[in-house]
Amino acid sequence: MPDSARFTLSRLVSGVLRFAWDIAAPTRCRACGASLFGMSNAYLCAGCLARVQWIGKAACRGCGFPLGPHGRSRDNCGRCRGLNLPLASAFAVARYREGARDLVISLKFRWETELAAPMAELMVARLRAAGVPDLDAVLPVPLHPSRIRERGYNQSAFLADAVAKRLGLPTDHKALFRVRRTAPQALLGRADRQENIKDAFRANADLSGRRVLIVDDVMTTGATMGECARTCRQAGATRVHALAFAR
Ligand SMILES: [Zn+2]
Ligand SMILES: [Zn+2]
Repeated sequence: MPDSARFTLSRLVSGVLRFAWDIAAPTRCRACGASLFGMSNAYLCAGCLARVQWIGKAACRGCGFPLGPHGRSRDNCGRCRGLNLPLASAFAVARYREGARDLVISLKFRWETELAAPMAELMVARLRAAGVPDLDAVLPVPLHPSRIRERGYNQSAFLADAVAKRLGLPTDHKALFRVRRTAPQALLGRADRQENIKDAFRANADLSGRRVLIVDDVMTTGATMGECARTCRQAGATRVHALAFAR
């Protein structure tokens, strides 16, 4: 069989298989539940995708918060201005609102770990648009072992692996670990978050001279990323950057 015929045949077979799979298990929009029948590799319907609030270049360098129409890419937001920030830079793809929030929840609580790849694709695109800093390794924000036992996995580890693969970097799953089980940051006010997460992490490795990228699904106030960065710096890391899917 000539190569071109074999290629056509394999495309036909894969098309038929995909069609059969769509009938057997139709994919649904993660936000509104609308059927995504026949839309391979889609995770949100067009309507929900259009409502995602993407974060552009004009975002705070210290915490990733969008700065509004007059902000510039090297600025800091009002809360970060004048502070000695633990993070060299911080980036997020979208606001933690409809669409983006549903993807995070599906990845985090519904075992939809296949979402890590497309989400990481967007995260790396965000980083590339800003200019990828010099990096030696990617580190996921660790979960406490008891939390991993409850949930079954650490969603940030999946994101970190997918981001690292696209950047051609190693993921270091062991460098940071969580020594304290903390209350979910989302339930707390800004001041309490700082207190809640303080001393929650330890470094398990010598990070001397290393430039690392910390990856998480959501960055709320940046307190968790900041605490991870402080821990890495204490272990010798020279630069610590942060990348989250939602902010
Ligand atoms: Zn939808
Ligand atoms: Zn900021």
